[in-house]
Amino acid sequence: MFINGQWLKAQSGDTFQSYNPASGEPIGQVPAGKSADAVKAIDAAAEAFLLWSCQTAYQRSHFLYEAHALMMADLERLACIMTEEQGKPIQAARNEVKYGADFLLWYAEEGKRVYGRTIPSARSDQRFLVLRQPVGVVGAITPWNYPISMITRKVAPALAAGCTIVLKPAEATPLCASAVFEIFEKAGFPAGVANLVTALDPGPIGETFLSDFRVRKVTFTGSTTVGKMLAKGAAPQLKRLSLELGGHAPFIVCRDADPLHAAKGLALVKFLNSGQACISPNRIFVHTEILKPFLAELTSRVSGLKAGSGFDAGVRIGPLINERELDKIDRQVQDAVAKGASLVTGGCRLTDGNLGRGFFFAPTILSDVNSDMSIYREETFGPVAPVIPYDNEDDLLAMANDTHYGLASYVYTRDLKKAFRLFEGLQFGIVGINDINPTSAAAPFGGMKESGLGREGASEGIGEYLETKLGGFSI
Ligand code: NAP
Repeated sequence: MFINGQWLKAQSGDTFQSYNPASGEPIGQVPAGKSADAVKAIDAAAEAFLLWSCQTAYQRSHFLYEAHALMMADLERLACIMTEEQGKPIQAARNEVKYGADFLLWYAEEGKRVYGRTIPSARSDQRFLVLRQPVGVVGAITPWNYPISMITRKVAPALAAGCTIVLKPAEATPLCASAVFEIFEKAGFPAGVANLVTALDPGPIGETFLSDFRVRKVTFTGSTTVGKMLAKGAAPQLKRLSLELGGHAPFIVCRDADPLHAAKGLALVKFLNSGQACISPNRIFVHTEILKPFLAELTSRVSGLKAGSGFDAGVRIGPLINERELDKIDRQVQDAVAKGASLVTGGCRLTDGNLGRGFFFAPTILSDVNSDMSIYREETFGPVAPVIPYDNEDDLLAMANDTHYGLASYVYTRDLKKAFRLFEGLQFGIVGINDINPTSAAAPFGGMKESGLGREGASEGIGEYLETKLGGFSI
């Protein structure tokens, strides 16, 4: 763990293993932090806040630039750690490291644009001045599926704003987190500004973040279930909260769309990270008139996807993170087939040769999916594309919005009027119109409804770490 500028063991001396999900082999040991370690890290962050929050944005920016340069220089090593620990193919890991580094660069600049304002008063002897100031110590919790970029997406805006941070990464990817904090160490951030507490049991760390009054903000990326628990726990102290939670993205292919282009887009975005993405399409609505060419193109692309270790050439499907995820996906597929879905390709665990040692699921297409099936409502987080044929475009918005989730959505159409109608009517924080990658450090990322609170990236992302203070001056 990295606390107050030092690499420390857990106070209990306990450790836990990190594993390679492609082979099941242990790959490293890290400290198993507990509540006492989190308190120690909060002590350091609270002390460091006194000085860090008083530095100028230009001084803070210098460290973020340095961290960006170091991360880019170390890209290949970081990508290899990620492929080994999380499983995604090496090129996807390289892309993620670049995306993660982008947040450091973007907020190195955006920190300088935290503007206040003056407001005219109705009284001639009064002046109003609005300041934006760092909220304080931040407790951050991140998931395993994007184990580097989900860290920098929180740390960069928090530090640029003048906050200090204690971060607990996912149990499955502590080595990625340690590698990122080695970069922060080399970048020379003052001791206590950025702290890392690795843990096997996340509960006590989360409870410490919630109960320690010095932590003024909790930022979380993960499942909606845990996000709701944290929201409940934050209530007694009215702690500021940002929640980036689960999704159940609709992918709408309109009657006028090019079915081959849409199928290509779906094959790319659905199977990215083996479907383990919060913005992964989970309900694919395809107009019946173009269903046949769409499915034919999708099937030819998906059945050619190679599964295996992310280090092997040509591999596009890495392992799932653990056995539990495999079981959940298998259950969703079985349920859909039992209720009448057609299995177009895939549909089972992959066990040939070395694949049996890891957690591999075949890239799968289901057609004739309907609202009675669990996959229609539950997030899958795996390489399964459920296709739902439809006839009436007037029903599209109601069908797509029929979910408690509201993170990402996608539309394929060549009709500008339809594109606007759907863009404006979809109750999702992100809408890709003929676009499968509507994400960037410069763009606000986040969900509506039970997909979360707040936004990450863009100017909104730094706003999450700022308080607004009004000064009324009687002169
Ligand atoms: P998760 O089980 O909610 O875990 C996320 C993080 O929360 C991990 O660090 C986990 O620690 C920790 N955690 C679990 N229980 C906790 C508790 N009681 N108190 C405090 N922390 C706790 O989610 P996941 O399975 O890792 O990630 C997948 C989910 O994340 C999906 O639903 C996905 O959609 C969502 N996600 C959302 C976004 C977004 O930007 N909206 C991005 C990526 C992922 P352990 O690892 O030790 O359990």
